[in-house]
Amino acid sequence: MDLLALPAFADNLIWMLHDDVNAIVVDPGAASPVKNALRERGLRLAAILVTHHHPDHVGGLAELQPLVQGPIYGPAREAMPVTVEKLSHGMAFELPGLHVRVLDVPGHTAGHIAYVATEPGRAPWLFCGDTLFSAGCGRLFEGTPAQMQHSLSELAALPDATSVCCAHEYTLSNLRFARTVEPHNTALAEYETRCKALRAEGAWTLPSTIATERAVNPFLRVREPEVVASARAHGAASTDPVDVLAALREWKNTF
Ligand code: ZN
Ligand code: FE
Repeated sequence: MDLLALPAFADNLIWMLHDDVNAIVVDPGAASPVKNALRERGLRLAAILVTHHHPDHVGGLAELQPLVQGPIYGPAREAMPVTVEKLSHGMAFELPGLHVRVLDVPGHTAGHIAYVATEPGRAPWLFCGDTLFSAGCGRLFEGTPAQMQHSLSELAALPDATSVCCAHEYTLSNLRFARTVEPHNTALAEYETRCKALRAEGAWTLPSTIATERAVNPFLRVREPEVVASARAHGAASTDPVDVLAALREWKNTF
């Protein structure tokens, strides 16, 4: 399978996995980038995966529905603009060449799900919507810090080599915040240099990997002493990971 990132709107990425015949897309907030990619490459749309209900993730569904020659999957606990196969934690399904399993990752929205797609003999792809971003996480629109902390710790426990396919290219702005939280993290400084070079060439910083996120993402590093200390200086009620995450998220909202 090959992975493509199809840009949409200001900073969304619609992920497409294909094997030169079948294509699967994730969170098509707009239909035209998907239709163009299918046409250019002569691909058939085999399935659509949706992580959560926000318009920039579901906006293309109605227009793509007549094209899709297989299921549209979505979260069981969220309203969707088209009929979907409803998924929740622990469910799994097969697509051409892929095994996909579902995780509940509430926090950004109440019913947000993530997909872990595996092709035999390769590292998995994680499609995490707006839950985990490179060096950041989604805003807490509907969920609590405790939910988000639990969701992120489940994602952090995936294999190191897992490709992290986030729905937005927010990496450089997230890194500015991360470096303020953890000024002595050398892995973070190196990653920022690498990401700046990629963006300067017009390339995406994504997908990231779980190993990278564990090394650089303050929202996954809520037990690291420097992260805890910075959060405590910005209102964290205690050193508990949930309080640390809550303070980081509040701080980032106005950073
Ligand atoms: Zn969203
Ligand atoms: Fe989004």
